[in-house]
Amino acid sequence: MQDSTRSVAVLATGGTIAGTAADPGDNIGYTAAQLGVKALVEAVPALREVPLLTEQVAQLDSKDMDFAVWATLARRVAELLARQDIAGVVITHGTDTLEETAYALQRLLAPAKPVVLSAAMRPATALLRDGPQNLLDAVTLAREPGARGVMAVLAGTVHSALDVRKVHSYRVDAFGSGDAGPLGYIEEGRLRRLRDWPMVDPLGLEALEKGAWPWVEIVTSHAGARPEGVHALVKAGVKGLVVAGTGNGSLHHALEAALLEAQRAGVGVWRSTRCLAGPVQMKPGDGLPAAGTLTPVQARIELMLQLMRG
Ligand code: ASP
Repeated sequence: MQDSTRSVAVLATGGTIAGTAADPGDNIGYTAAQLGVKALVEAVPALREVPLLTEQVAQLDSKDMDFAVWATLARRVAELLARQDIAGVVITHGTDTLEETAYALQRLLAPAKPVVLSAAMRPATALLRDGPQNLLDAVTLAREPGARGVMAVLAGTVHSALDVRKVHSYRVDAFGSGDAGPLGYIEEGRLRRLRDWPMVDPLGLEALEKGAWPWVEIVTSHAGARPEGVHALVKAGVKGLVVAGTGNGSLHHALEAALLEAQRAGVGVWRSTRCLAGPVQMKPGDGLPAAGTLTPVQARIELMLQLMRG
């Protein structure tokens, strides 16, 4: 039974879910982040029955997501969740960096109430717009008794923040959860849960008080890889490097030599994989730590947070 006495806070940040195009048949030539949070909610008649609190936290295309918005979101989500009258939080977001925001929030807060990211692959003006249903599903999950942690709901599928990734550039069903698989499904306003809520030890908001986010870049290993890019980054003052290696995090010898050199110079270097699924496992003799099941973008966030904590 969903709790109808407590509210869901809907925090809007922009994205295609708030995007508009001049032509309803145009699914790519639109402008993201045009509609405000009130318009998003009004497009879903079923939400008239639900107590909501709405706030516009940002208005951007999530390709331009930045640390200032993450910090604002993390702090606002923590404040809202501390309130007895709030059941959970929904964040509307662009799909491009949704997995990064989801991972960062889960790692910082690991909330004991649900925080659900909602997005769309089609603008609000499209013939087949997915935003309103995705928003309704997100609010449904945010009201689910006992739900906890940061999640995303798209195309009726619930993903944990620890596993979610954008796997398709165009289709409406564009997200996956890798080997872990989805956390569940929302079907006709009901959650069918397949596995446990996302759990992780939170770093806490104090991590954000320690100063600026350290500069961490992602580099990729591939045929003909060269060391000069890594040399230039180190010279420019990069603090961390995540390498998206081949297979089990294996690296072209020229790139590996440059990365080991960077590590000796005090740069944090982690090995992840450019494979679409699967972990990087350490084996004897590995000089660079493995990022385990973290994707390159997740590993980058994790490394930034760890460097920030000192
Ligand atoms: N570029 C858009 C964004 O991430 C794409 C989307 O939302 O689907 O904001």
